[in-house]
Amino acid sequence: NPFSQAQFLLSCAQLTQLPADDAPEVAFAGRSNAGKSSALNAICGRHGLARVSKTPGRTQLINLFSLASSARLADLPGYGYAAVPEPMRKSWGRLVGGYVEQRTNLRGLFLIMDCRHPLTDYDKQMLAWAVTARRNCHILLTKADKLGYGASKTTLLNTRKGLKDMGSSASVQLFSSSSHQGLDEARAKLTELLAS
Ligand code: GDP
Repeated sequence: NPFSQAQFLLSCAQLTQLPADDAPEVAFAGRSNAGKSSALNAICGRHGLARVSKTPGRTQLINLFSLASSARLADLPGYGYAAVPEPMRKSWGRLVGGYVEQRTNLRGLFLIMDCRHPLTDYDKQMLAWAVTARRNCHILLTKADKLGYGASKTTLLNTRKGLKDMGSSASVQLFSSSSHQGLDEARAKLTELLAS
């Protein structure tokens, strides 16, 4: 596993605090509670790397992790709870939208969606930014262990159709941090994006 050396590097509350754009980055995004921290931990094979189930929506930080290859993973703040107040949504948009649009070393996005609630408004906003900024995007439909075989296939097909309808060329797969379904595929995709 090429990500097993992942280490927390730093947190940024503003784009100006990001380290120099001298190494490839792939960013992880997802609505709060979608399973983003669990996916990061599973992909890196490191349990406590990204914290799981913190109080959602309070701190809005980009957390950076360094890999053995000197590449980095960026954990973008999620939102999605009705309780998040409007000014916070605005600052979230500035930080996350700005990062997706401007970060020159960003090689692609991993967008994490709960397979039972794919393509939320949050996800559509992220995908719209990715389309505008011409970012490669790979979607993990996670918690796939919660759905049966038929239902998960249906979700996969419906999500592909929804993406096509919105002009996104994002790739999409089923994933589970619990059962490790789709883990090899996700690692291969991440390796490919970091090398792109
Ligand atoms: P985040 O807010 O997107 O970082 O989500 P977390 O990773 O903290 O996960 C939110 C909740 O979903 C936690 O209770 C996790 O244990 C649970 N969860 C995350 N991934 C999976 C998965 O693949 N399968 C199942 N069954 N539960 C998961």
